[in-house]
Amino acid sequence: MKNNNGRSFLIGFFVGGLLLFSAVNFQKFGAFMNPKPAASTPAIADNVPRLIATEPAQTPAQSHPQDTATLPSTPEPVRPTQTFPSPTVTPLALANEQEPEVIGYSVNGLPLEVYTFGSGAHGRMIVAGIHGGDEWNTVTLANQLIAYVNQYPDVIPSDVTLYILRNLNPDGEARSHDKYGRLNSNGVDLNRNFPANWQADWERAGCWNYLPTSSGSSAGSEPETRALMEFLGGHRIDALISYHSAALGIFPGGEPWEEDSVRLAEAIAGVSPYRFPPLDTGCVYTGTLADYAVSTGISAVDLELTNHSDTDFGVNLTILDILLTFQP
Ligand SMILES: [Zn+2]
Repeated sequence: MKNNNGRSFLIGFFVGGLLLFSAVNFQKFGAFMNPKPAASTPAIADNVPRLIATEPAQTPAQSHPQDTATLPSTPEPVRPTQTFPSPTVTPLALANEQEPEVIGYSVNGLPLEVYTFGSGAHGRMIVAGIHGGDEWNTVTLANQLIAYVNQYPDVIPSDVTLYILRNLNPDGEARSHDKYGRLNSNGVDLNRNFPANWQADWERAGCWNYLPTSSGSSAGSEPETRALMEFLGGHRIDALISYHSAALGIFPGGEPWEEDSVRLAEAIAGVSPYRFPPLDTGCVYTGTLADYAVSTGISAVDLELTNHSDTDFGVNLTILDILLTFQP
């Protein structure tokens, strides 16, 4: 363990300030969490499954008019320009009912935090932020989901435990909220560092090669990678979503794609605008988290949000239900 007392104090001081700020904005965010007028809103527990059950059935796969009704206020409180370097102020404040488990530290010593909900035998996991600041909206989405499940714990089935790793690459996110925030502080693309078809070299031209990019000195060389591998190995997890952005679609793990992971991808595509099969970029994907998860018996997909700023919260609430009720 690293000694982070000084850092912890500073972070504590900073977070304290943020909590104060958040309290001021709590009403606003509360309106986002409950967009309908209170008078017409049924009991919380009743409201949640209805949202999940009716939206996909009534909405064509290619267009989601209801999303525009539920999403516009979503990113406002968490725009990076307002809160950088911590764009997660409000959701974290709401999520503080539960302390996260720190499963390891980044190269720069930032904590890797997992939130756990429910206590059922079937573990489901969401991993966000593997590409750091380039895909910072995945971290925002994770924070929103954490806040949501904290507020509506009944969405977790009794036989399921949900784990949310809110940011696997906090160093990249802290560096910059653009393409230069993609790598960890060793210049490693964490989604090329897992021990599944790991390769030291690959064709980089046109494939996220904004900075000198490495897959690591060896498979699993990075502390972020190892922390997640250890966590996956120590828990009974059978399905996983690794969030990315943007726009390429849904990538099942496995080489070739593993059958159950394809089924998970198809189920997600059936309730969302995310495409499956995904866009063929011509890029080679080596050492990915989804491939590694599949190699350990976990059904897994890489899932790309629509763009680099929106969280598509309404859609991903429906996808959360898919993940929680998936039968591997
Ligand atoms: Zn990505």
